[in-house]
Amino acid sequence: MSMPLVFATHNQNKATEIQALVGSSFVIKTLTDIGCNEDIPETGNSFFENAQLKSEYVWRKYGLACFADDSGLVVPSLNGAPGIHSARYAGNQRSDKANIALLLSNMQNQANREAAFVTVISLQLPNEHVFFEGKLEGHLIQTERGENGFGYDPVFVPKGMNQTLAELTLAEKNAISHRAKAFTQLAQYLTQLGNP
Ligand code: IMP
Repeated sequence: MSMPLVFATHNQNKATEIQALVGSSFVIKTLTDIGCNEDIPETGNSFFENAQLKSEYVWRKYGLACFADDSGLVVPSLNGAPGIHSARYAGNQRSDKANIALLLSNMQNQANREAAFVTVISLQLPNEHVFFEGKLEGHLIQTERGENGFGYDPVFVPKGMNQTLAELTLAEKNAISHRAKAFTQLAQYLTQLGNP
């Protein structure tokens, strides 16, 4: 018997990707699939809190097992900014260009240009709650390079590499990304639950 498991996203592509990873023990459903069209509040102070708020919301309101993710860029010399505000760093228009411009301007006088992308997944099952975390460390360059990816990819160079994330193919990025690492852990956990 396959158990329904909600992924707290409206993005069907993301859901299809994770369905392929976890196999047939779980049927992944999106928020759209369960008729959840409200904006789930993300009022937490960390990736962990925001991911958990989303997964708990679905569990409480719909009584369905659920996982939710929250990601962002963490820059130690900016005291962790943009962090949980990564999508709206330069304002509610959620513009990648404006976010990068603000980031580069705030980094102008910083000697330490280290940064990390982080993804946290909160998995809420009927009898347990588990977090998974994926991290990609690197540094910020001074001007954008590359056309691929999204968000802060054009100014982020992963540790040990010379190219920015925006200069990598999707497959190359997926082999190392914070998101892929967190989702691989989730998929391994679910697979082992489904095949005890
Ligand atoms: P979300 O939680 O996955 O929606 O990510 C929030 C924000 O973090 C995005 O809007 C981006 O600004 C930034 N971000 C997250 N993951 C990435 C990435 O892989 N590359 C570049 N920016 C990212």
